[in-house]
Amino acid sequence: MKDRFGREINYMRISVTDRCNLRCEYCMPEEGITKVDRSEILQIDEIVRICEASVRIGIDRFKITGGEPLVRYDLVELIRMIKGIPGCKEVTMTSNGQILSSYVEELADIGIDGINISLDTLDTEKYRNITRLGDIRKTLDAIDLCIEKGIKTKINCLVQKGFNEDEIRDLAEYSMDKGIDIRYIELMPIGFADPDKCLGSEEIMSILRDAYPELEADDSKHGNGPAIYYKVLGRNSSIGFINSVHGKFCESCNRIRLTSKGFLKPCLCYDSGRDLKPFLRSDIDGLVGAIFDTITEKPKSHCFENPDREHIKSLEKRPMSEIGG
Ligand code: SAM
Ligand code: SF4
Repeated sequence: MKDRFGREINYMRISVTDRCNLRCEYCMPEEGITKVDRSEILQIDEIVRICEASVRIGIDRFKITGGEPLVRYDLVELIRMIKGIPGCKEVTMTSNGQILSSYVEELADIGIDGINISLDTLDTEKYRNITRLGDIRKTLDAIDLCIEKGIKTKINCLVQKGFNEDEIRDLAEYSMDKGIDIRYIELMPIGFADPDKCLGSEEIMSILRDAYPELEADDSKHGNGPAIYYKVLGRNSSIGFINSVHGKFCESCNRIRLTSKGFLKPCLCYDSGRDLKPFLRSDIDGLVGAIFDTITEKPKSHCFENPDREHIKSLEKRPMSEIGG
């Protein structure tokens, strides 16, 4: 369906849990978040029903996220069920990769359409520091296994000043060696992120241009998101940029977000939206209507780049782990 600004909305990010086996500095405090009560988290059949209703109005691509989606014991079953909805075109997921290796085979068997794996550094010590709990080996092994099983795999790299700008080239080289795309993401002022650490895509691009003067625009389609891609001549994977803060790609935004508690958000930046839980008790038309109405309220654009945004009413306060990125 189209929203009031004429944007085609066809993609939903679904946070299936706020729990995580890591504590990335920008996402969670060291002691972890105040967890959403388990009874409040959507059940598998409730998520599937929301997806069924969404498909009816043309939202037919789903990204499963979290928290860490794989800490949910019923995740593979959930993905299998969503994939079975008539009209569903795509189900992908995003993961930190820590326990992914144990599920790669099953995920490949049910035909998952892609996995994005977060990797901000290639250094064992730095990985442990930024994630507070992580073992980089487990994530690197999971990446290899996904590639081996033929799953479309991408690396998501969150760039932060003073942390990993010196690894931008190495991470690109690592991904291109593996033949998979990497996307550099601008740090958004949300959750526990320090806005002063945001490194703009132009600066990231300039580092990459120095490393690869032959970098050229890659206009081929790589997914459903706002990433802009480039290619190094002679390499068979691409380098993408998600300019979440400075890019203002709102004009072509195609997505809505469902939190682990069943709150539907038309824009990541603001806390507005609709609790879908009461509509789960109504017939499917009621649920379709609630999703439709939420989309009609989708704001024109985010305000992440606004230095005075703290004064803006209805700024999002939920932690990233509840929303899912
Ligand atoms: N646990 C999974 C993972 O890390 O891939 C999925 C959930 S995580 C919230 C999804 C993505 O959001 C990750 O790639 C993470 O780097 C990104 N993220 C978290 N906080 C962010 C922020 N403040 N700005 C931009 N991206 C962020
Ligand atoms: Fe967990 Fe992902 Fe947040 Fe890191 S970014 S703490 S892996 S949910």
